[in-house]
Amino acid sequence: MSSGEPETLQGNGLLLQLRELLSPPQYGMWFRGVRLHEAADGTIRLLVRNAFVLEWISNYFSDILAQAVRRCYGDDRTISLAVDPDAPPPAKIEREPPPLPPAAPPLAGDSSLARNSDTSLHEEYTFENFVVGTSNRFAHAAATAVAEAPGKSYNPFFLHGSVGLGKTHLLQAICHQILAKDRRANILYLSCESFTNHFIASLENNDLPAFRQKYRNVDVLLVDDIHLLANKERTQEEFFHTFNTVYNLGRQIAISSDAPPKDIPTLQERLVSRFKMGLVVELAPPDFETRVNILKRKARLRGHTLPDDVSHFLAEHISTNIRELEGSVVRLIGYAALENQPISLELARVALSDAMPARSTAVTIHDIVSAVTRYFNVKLSDLQSKRRTQSIAFPRQVCMYVARHNTNLSLEEIGGYFGGRDHTTVIYATEKIKRLMDEDPHQGDIIRRLEKEVRG
Ligand code: ADP
Ligand code: MG
Repeated sequence: MSSGEPETLQGNGLLLQLRELLSPPQYGMWFRGVRLHEAADGTIRLLVRNAFVLEWISNYFSDILAQAVRRCYGDDRTISLAVDPDAPPPAKIEREPPPLPPAAPPLAGDSSLARNSDTSLHEEYTFENFVVGTSNRFAHAAATAVAEAPGKSYNPFFLHGSVGLGKTHLLQAICHQILAKDRRANILYLSCESFTNHFIASLENNDLPAFRQKYRNVDVLLVDDIHLLANKERTQEEFFHTFNTVYNLGRQIAISSDAPPKDIPTLQERLVSRFKMGLVVELAPPDFETRVNILKRKARLRGHTLPDDVSHFLAEHISTNIRELEGSVVRLIGYAALENQPISLELARVALSDAMPARSTAVTIHDIVSAVTRYFNVKLSDLQSKRRTQSIAFPRQVCMYVARHNTNLSLEEIGGYFGGRDHTTVIYATEKIKRLMDEDPHQGDIIRRLEKEVRG
C-alpha cells in the first residue's frame, strides 16, 4: 500500500465513486488521506486517519460506502474500517488523558496572556476534567482534534447544546491544551457579549481600526454563546467580516451556541452558512452513567469520594443540567464539613431538597411553557403562533399534554393559551402524545422528565 493512494485500480474507482456521491468538503473532511486495502476474499478495508473520523464514517456514511462499493464492484462487499497506524498527525482521541501538568500555568495576571484573553480561563475547564460519555463523545473528540491541529481539522468548529452541558468547558479546554503546548499562542477566547460590547465601544470612540486589528489578528478565535448575536444587526455584520478574515488566513475558529446555526433567530443567512461550513456538533444531556461519573469527578476534584448510593441518588434526581449536578456536590461537601459528618445519603437528601424547595403552589401553565421551551429550544411566541411545522407543533402538543395532566385548566383554557386553539385540538394533542409515550420509550422518558420538572 503506497501512502495516501489506494492499492488497486478498483480501489481508485471506489474513491472516485465516493467523490461523486459526496460534496467536495464532505469528501475532504472525512475521506482525506484514506487508504484502501482489498483482501483476497474480497473484503475491503478502509484505513482512516483517526478514531473520530472512523466513528463518524461508520455512523453517517455506511450507506454511502455500500452504494459506492456497489457502483464500483457491481456487488456488495464487506467493508471494515480501522484507524490507519501510519496516519499523520495522530489526533489525541480515545486514549487516556495525559497526566496533569505539575502546576497549572498562572493565567490571570500573566502579561503574555492578558494581551489576548478577555476573560481569564477557568482552571478546571480542561480536557482532563471533562467526563466523556455517549452524550458528549463526538463533541469531546472533535474539540480534542481542534486543539491538536488548530485551523487544520475542523474549521469552523461549531458546538451547540442547551445551558449547563459543557460548551464553555470544552471551548476553554481547547485553549488550555493549545497553551500547554505553546504558552505564547495567539488565542482569543471571549463571550459573544464582550465582542458586542467592544464593538459598540469602538464605534463610539471612533476606534474601529484598533478593534479590527485585535480581532482579526489571532491564530485561534473562540467565541462563546454566539446565539447572543441574534437581533444585533451591526454586530453580526462586523462578526461576518471578522470571521472571513480569520478563516481566510487559515486560522481556527470555534463557536458555541445554545442552538444549531439555522435555529438562531434572526441570524443572517450568510453567517448561518459560514457556521455550517465546518463541523457542527451537539452536546446532548448526559445519560445516567455519565451523570454519576461527573458527580464523582467533581467530588474528587474537591478532595472527596462519593459513596455509590449518594452519586446514584443525585444522578437520578438531577438530569438535565451539569451545572446543577456540580452545585449539588458542592453543597453536599459544604454540609458535610459544616455538620462535621461523612458524606451520606441522608445529607444528600438535605442538599437536594434545598436545591429544589417544595412548591407551595400548584403547577402553572408558565412552569410548563418554561420547561418545554427550554428543552425544545423554541419560543413561547412560536408555541402561540399559527405555525404548524413539526418542530413547533410537537412541543406545543407536549405542553397541552402536560397541562392536561398536571393542572386543573379546562380544554378551552389550554387551547386558548396556545394561540386560541379549540378543545378538539387539545384532545387530539393529548391523545397523540399519550400514544407516542406508549410506543416510544425514549420520547416517553423525555416527557415524563419534563412532567417531573414542572411538578418540582
Ligand atoms: P455551558 O457553557 O454549556 O452552559 P458549562 O461549560 O459552563 O456549560 O458547564 C457547566 C458546568 O458543568 C461546568 O462547571 C463544567 O465544568 C461542568 N461540566 C459540563 N460538562 C462536563 C463534563 N462532561 N465533565 C465534567 N464537567 C462538566
Ligand atoms: Mg457557557
